[in-house]
Amino acid sequence: MQSFMCRRLLSLTAILLITFMPCVPVFASAGDAVSGDGASLTLTLEDPSTDKPYTKGRKALDDDETTFVTFNKGKTLRLSAEQPFVSLYVKWEIPCQWTLSLPDGTTFDGGKDGFIHEYCRLGQAVSSAELTIPDGAMLTNLYAFADANPPDWVQLWEPPCEKADLLVLPTHADDEHLWFGGALPYYAGELGYDVQVVYLTNHGETIRNHERLNGLWTVGVRHYPVIGRFPDVLATKESLDAAAYRFGYDNVVKFQVENLRRFRPRVVIGHDMKGEYGHGAHKLNAKTLLEAVALTDDPSAYPASAEKYGTCQVQKCYLHLWKKNQVVVDWDSMALTRFGGKSALDMAKEGFACHQSQLKYYSVEKDSVKYDCRKFGLAYTTVGEDTEGTNDLFEHVDWSDKVQIQEPSPSDPNPDTQPVSPGDVGTVSPSDTKRGFDWGRFLPSDAKSVLLAGVAALMVLATAGVCAMCAGRKR
Ligand SMILES: [Zn+2]
Repeated sequence: MQSFMCRRLLSLTAILLITFMPCVPVFASAGDAVSGDGASLTLTLEDPSTDKPYTKGRKALDDDETTFVTFNKGKTLRLSAEQPFVSLYVKWEIPCQWTLSLPDGTTFDGGKDGFIHEYCRLGQAVSSAELTIPDGAMLTNLYAFADANPPDWVQLWEPPCEKADLLVLPTHADDEHLWFGGALPYYAGELGYDVQVVYLTNHGETIRNHERLNGLWTVGVRHYPVIGRFPDVLATKESLDAAAYRFGYDNVVKFQVENLRRFRPRVVIGHDMKGEYGHGAHKLNAKTLLEAVALTDDPSAYPASAEKYGTCQVQKCYLHLWKKNQVVVDWDSMALTRFGGKSALDMAKEGFACHQSQLKYYSVEKDSVKYDCRKFGLAYTTVGEDTEGTNDLFEHVDWSDKVQIQEPSPSDPNPDTQPVSPGDVGTVSPSDTKRGFDWGRFLPSDAKSVLLAGVAALMVLATAGVCAMCAGRKR
């Protein structure tokens, strides 16, 4: 009887382990994240056509984002490590399509989402793999891990939002922390809202692309940002007219209308009309945004994006330092449990600290008369003005279309995705957090994975215990 029980438990454990161990390579997303403390392994690179070391590749193994290897012609490299590895983390200078082939013939295609930081689980432990790199690619860093759970610094990006609760529109990489302060750590990191960041300009092939992702990841953003095509050609400020001439005023309005329709945000945050410290591209981004939010529900305005995404109505648009209907969101007094009790302002500073190339120019300012990152004004609303003193960017916002995945119940074998109102399960408003909101409802899937792994571990332990008991009694 005892050995029968033992066998039953072993079978159950085996089923659980098989269930939790995928056997095909997958690109992991942020939802899969369970952070581990595993350090990356020491990799070596060889040219498989000659079996000789690929010495140029050292720049991809130096853990330094300022160096990279350029491949004018495509190349295949063999990666091997001192012990078997189960996952790979790759960084590129610009998006490219790449392939990884495992010794058993399994292959998978990377770069399909256009991410420059990409993590993939191999689904098996291998001692080598072949990386096929396309023409013109620039490989920045490669890491391999023996631990299936990557450490915190490994970024597992999710695609841009289907629908955003909050859309943030900085001009350059770093503006999101400098001028919008704790908005990203609070709404994306702490509350888990769907937050999309859309940058107006791009910085070409520079370190700022890595700094951007590192900063966003640090403050809890998990949806990959959208980066505009407008080049950041001037390092110093220029006038509104110069920026409008350079980018084409109408091109910028069109870009914003398209992104507003694509992400259908409830709330939008944009720049100071005076350009923060006077930067012409910041001014242009703010001025065109105010026009764009009023055009999103007009199908005759920029009809191509209306046809592609449909029209929508933005509920609220705040501009930094806007004088009317002003709110002061005290990021400094918001202790965030997600970040170990640090304040939203502390996290904005940590996000900005990732922008090493910009640290000598700027800092995140609080209580500054000119640049206070806590001060916003409601520049556009379709849901009424804010109640004075509430300082809640989501006050009056309609959440009725917020979709939550319902947990299946025993009586409902075919659960579906149902729209639910905030009164049912839905959404958190900042005031909910003050009342001891039920965070279990918003448990991220990484926490669920920890829970499942815990259950599996308990089953293994219980099985081992019963088996030991059986063995003891036999003796
Ligand atoms: Zn800027």
